[in-house]
Amino acid sequence: MMTKSFGTADGTQIQLYVLKNSRGMEVAISDFGATVVSLKVPDRTGNFADVVLGYDDASGYVNDKSYFGAAIGRYGNRIGKARFTLNGKTYELSKNDGENQLHGGVKGFNKKVWTAKPVRGGVRFTYASKDGEEGYPGNLKAEVTYTLTDKNELKIDYRATTDKSTVVNLTNHSYFNLAADGDILKHELTLHASKFTPVDATLIPTGEIRDVKNTPFDFTKAAAIGSRIGNEDEQLKFGKGYDHNFVLDRPKAGLATVAEVYEPTSGRVLTVLTTEPGIQFYSGNFLDGTTKGKGGKAYEFRTGFCLETQHFPDSPNKKDFPSTVLNPGSEYKSTTIYQFSTRAK
Ligand code: BGC
Repeated sequence: MMTKSFGTADGTQIQLYVLKNSRGMEVAISDFGATVVSLKVPDRTGNFADVVLGYDDASGYVNDKSYFGAAIGRYGNRIGKARFTLNGKTYELSKNDGENQLHGGVKGFNKKVWTAKPVRGGVRFTYASKDGEEGYPGNLKAEVTYTLTDKNELKIDYRATTDKSTVVNLTNHSYFNLAADGDILKHELTLHASKFTPVDATLIPTGEIRDVKNTPFDFTKAAAIGSRIGNEDEQLKFGKGYDHNFVLDRPKAGLATVAEVYEPTSGRVLTVLTTEPGIQFYSGNFLDGTTKGKGGKAYEFRTGFCLETQHFPDSPNKKDFPSTVLNPGSEYKSTTIYQFSTRAK
């Protein structure tokens, strides 16, 4: 592993940790937000390109509003009315998305400087979130470990413990573009999800678990992201495109392949494996060209997509969704793998 200076954030020196495997795949991760800054993978002819959106230095991430590449916590995605009740006590969270909380609040884990430690084949980041931070109960010790394998896999292991009952939902917010250019509408997506969680106009799940069958949300067979994104559909209207949690079909507990994305011009393939029950498929609908990223490039509408492995949004207020409660004495554990390969024409 190589360490490089990446600038400063809140007066702190920020580093970039660069992992490289025997096949030339290279991933750079910053201690600011435990953020995946760049991810270089080959196309079908062996040409490497950086397939994630982001910035050239720490200041880009300090000012970022899109959560490019970051670790998300304490709670990934939205909590309705920025409040929940646990063991009879109501906790008021910071609001940063209208009346709701999004991605952990005003200063979520994506804006914190994590402590980095090299581990075999990767780097481990730890962050201690204080009792009451952004409104959450309990001192939470969070850990995110990135490892790069020789199978071109970026493996992300999440762990957390608490000293008071709390809720946790950690994820990574990388925006991928497997062509490393243009929009993502021709990327072909397969999602092993026969159900999804519809939302209201503020993107809070209604509580319904709906079949994807005969809707634009059916990606059980590969379909171009853009093939139905413009359909007349209330859910697509609410999300301004895809911005929904899919309920993953998993034959068994543990790590399972849940998504695959194929980009036909480059031949690059991204396969996602996770232990989580859900995935947020977000088609970059809030990108509008005003954000200037790497090399000064403007990130236009739908030029990146996210596949955020997670527990369902607003679970603390939805008793029928899988629980996100973490109690003292238990350990939160979650693993996601982003694997890269190529396919012939
Ligand atoms: C959310 C979007 C949000 C984006 C961050 C996604 O996880 O679902 O609604 O805009 O993150 O910019």
